[in-house]
Amino acid sequence: MKPQTLHCHTTLCDGKNTPAEMAAAALAAGCGAIGFSGHAPLPDGDDWCMPAVSVPLYRQAVLDLREQYRGQMDVFLGLEQDYFSPPAGPDWDYLIGSVHCVVKDGAVLSVDESEAIFVRAAREFYGGDFYAFARDYFRLEAEVAKATGCQIVGHFDLFTKFNEGNRLFDAADPRYRGPAMEALDALLERDVIFEINTGAMSRGYRTAPYPDPVFLRRIREKGGRVAVTSDSHSGESLLFGYPQAFALAAACGFSSTVYRTGEGFVDVPIGE
Ligand SMILES: [Zn+2]
Ligand SMILES: [Zn+2]
Repeated sequence: MKPQTLHCHTTLCDGKNTPAEMAAAALAAGCGAIGFSGHAPLPDGDDWCMPAVSVPLYRQAVLDLREQYRGQMDVFLGLEQDYFSPPAGPDWDYLIGSVHCVVKDGAVLSVDESEAIFVRAAREFYGGDFYAFARDYFRLEAEVAKATGCQIVGHFDLFTKFNEGNRLFDAADPRYRGPAMEALDALLERDVIFEINTGAMSRGYRTAPYPDPVFLRRIREKGGRVAVTSDSHSGESLLFGYPQAFALAAACGFSSTVYRTGEGFVDVPIGE
């Protein structure tokens, strides 16, 4: 099976390359498929999302590429819905559901925009208690599939983006892990696919993919499925960290990962 990513971004939201450049890079990298997942609009119009007027342009660009690459590479039209995005409507190949921010006392607190913003939010809204902040994050995460109607849960523990080496909080602490496990168990009640997402590795924030192995093992125990994705924001990182991500899946007990094909989502044995 040729590699693929179902999670990538373009200049229509916060990516560096156009859809055409991303597709060309995917073919050059030997991909069998590329799935685009532009950030869906948010009500307050954050600049990392597509504005609503760009969505038809995005759709057309991806559908044109599907025709252009027909017979060479599959091109899928996905969308990354935030918990707070308005409903996506039909006619998407798939939706990724993600939590990027928490609303506290009427303020929108980003967990992934920058470390300075994350730390300031914890200090100003939680008195420096990252565990209380995490509890609010995972309360939304538990509901993200219901809220977005997604088939794929994006970067389950994005909350650890700036926590390499546990420098902000202890990710093994029950005050963090408890609410995270509760969210995971709630999501595992639904038929969703979890990403093993290398996006924070390619951008230098983390040395391992999301999610933490403890969560991957739980997904495996409960019969959940995973897909390796790069959450790539540029053409050169479309398959970043893939050997490590597949090795992690295998180490956590998975014998297969999910790929998207013309027939839908299929399980492919690791290494095939
Ligand atoms: Zn995301
Ligand atoms: Zn993304």
